[in-house]
Amino acid sequence: MMSGKLFVISGPSGVGKGTLREHALNNIPGLVYSISCTTRKPRDGETDGVDYRFISHEKFREDIERGLFLEYAHVHEDYYGTLRADVEKELGRGRNVLLEIDVQGALQVKEKMPDAVLIFVAPPSIEVLEKRLRGRNTESESSLKVRLGNATKELELQNRYDYVIVNDDLDSSCEELRRIIL
Ligand code: ADP
Ligand code: 5GP
Repeated sequence: MMSGKLFVISGPSGVGKGTLREHALNNIPGLVYSISCTTRKPRDGETDGVDYRFISHEKFREDIERGLFLEYAHVHEDYYGTLRADVEKELGRGRNVLLEIDVQGALQVKEKMPDAVLIFVAPPSIEVLEKRLRGRNTESESSLKVRLGNATKELELQNRYDYVIVNDDLDSSCEELRRIIL
C-alpha cells in the first residue's frame, strides 16, 4: 500500500506562505493542496471551493460536532479548519498533501499524525513582514493590527517545527521548500 506524505506550512500573515504554496503546487508533481474551510469573508479575487470553502459559523460548528475536522482553530478573528476526509483520501491515493494552516492547527496535526512534516515560514524581520502585509493591500487597518499583533506569538512557536524557511529572497525560498518536499 502506497501512502503519500503530509506537509504543513505555517507562518505569520503576510510572510509569503500563499506565494510559496502556489509555486510548490505548480512545480512539484503529485503534490495536492487541501482546501480549508473558513468563516472569513472572501477577499476580492477569491473563489469559493478554490481558495477556501467559505462557510457560515453555524455550518462550521456543525462540522466540528460531527468530527469532520482533522484540525481547526480560531485564527485572528475567524474559524479555519481542515477536513479529515479530504486529506485521508488524497494520502490514500499516494499523493503528497500540502496544508497551509496556522500554528495551533499545525501542532494538532503533528499530534495526530507524527509523520507530518512541519515547515515554518519566517520573515527576515517584523518590519519586512509589515511592509509585505501592507503591500498586499487586502486588510483593513484593524485587521492588519490583529495580524501583526499575532505574528510575535506565532514566531515563538517556530522551534516546534521540523524546518524553518526565512523568506527573504523568494526564489531561494521556493527552492528550499521544493527540496524539503522532494
Ligand atoms: P501569506 O499567504 O503568508 O499571508 P502572501 O503569499 O500573500 O503571504 O504574501 C504577502 C505579500 O508579500 C504578497 O504581496 C507577496 O507577493 C509578497 N511576497 C511574498 N514573498 C516575498 C518575498 N520573498 N519577497 C518579497 N515579497 C514577497
Ligand atoms: P487568511 O485569512 O490570511 O487566508 O489566513 C489566516 C490564517 O489562517 C493563516 O495563518 C492561515 O495559514 C490560517 N489557516 C488557513 N486555513 C487554515 C486551516 O484549515 N486551519 C488552521 N488551523 N489555520 C488555517
